[in-house]
Amino acid sequence: MRLLIMGPPGAGKGTQAVALAERIGGAHISTGDIFRANVAQETELGRTAKRFMDAGEYVPDEVTNAMVADRLAQDDAREAFLLDGYPRTLDQVAKLDEILNELGTQLDGVVALTVVEDELISRLLERAKVSGRTDDTEDVIRHRQDVYRAETEPLLAVYRDRGLLVEVDGMGTPDAVGQRIADALPSA
Ligand code: AMP
Repeated sequence: MRLLIMGPPGAGKGTQAVALAERIGGAHISTGDIFRANVAQETELGRTAKRFMDAGEYVPDEVTNAMVADRLAQDDAREAFLLDGYPRTLDQVAKLDEILNELGTQLDGVVALTVVEDELISRLLERAKVSGRTDDTEDVIRHRQDVYRAETEPLLAVYRDRGLLVEVDGMGTPDAVGQRIADALPSA
């Protein structure tokens, strides 16, 4: 299976993605994790990404798209993958279509987690106390929600029109949400 998982910052996407990738037996490809690993290793890509991440902005599409194209071409992503946090812009949707086309494959579904905004902010403020993430300050948290609404929310309609969107209520415990995802994707 080839899936995407989407949701606003704080929706619990990362936690659910790990479990879902395991269930489908595919590569878990988190663009946020790849950027953070590059920041930690102080690579050129990491230096570029860090400026945007710290400000709560998206890393430019050409940088992100090239990174994902490389990653999807690797062996462990051939049969199944879960893309986590990509695509996030309409340009990335078009690029992903191209990449999958070239690989001779296509998406089977898009899981979108929905959580009300007040809950998102309070979860992220809670996470900020323990994560040490430089993009978890209150101003940046609020900005990331605005960027999500402007840039990423429109993607839901695109995937809904394609009949791929599976919306899952992201409120409640991680286990409860995981169960809802499993129920919504019986073949995963
Ligand atoms: P995440 O861990 O998915 O919340 O991503 C953390 C940060 O990495 C985001 O706020 C962006 O700065 C950057 N990032 C991750 N994925 C993307 C993407 N698909 N496009 C642009 N920037 C991204």
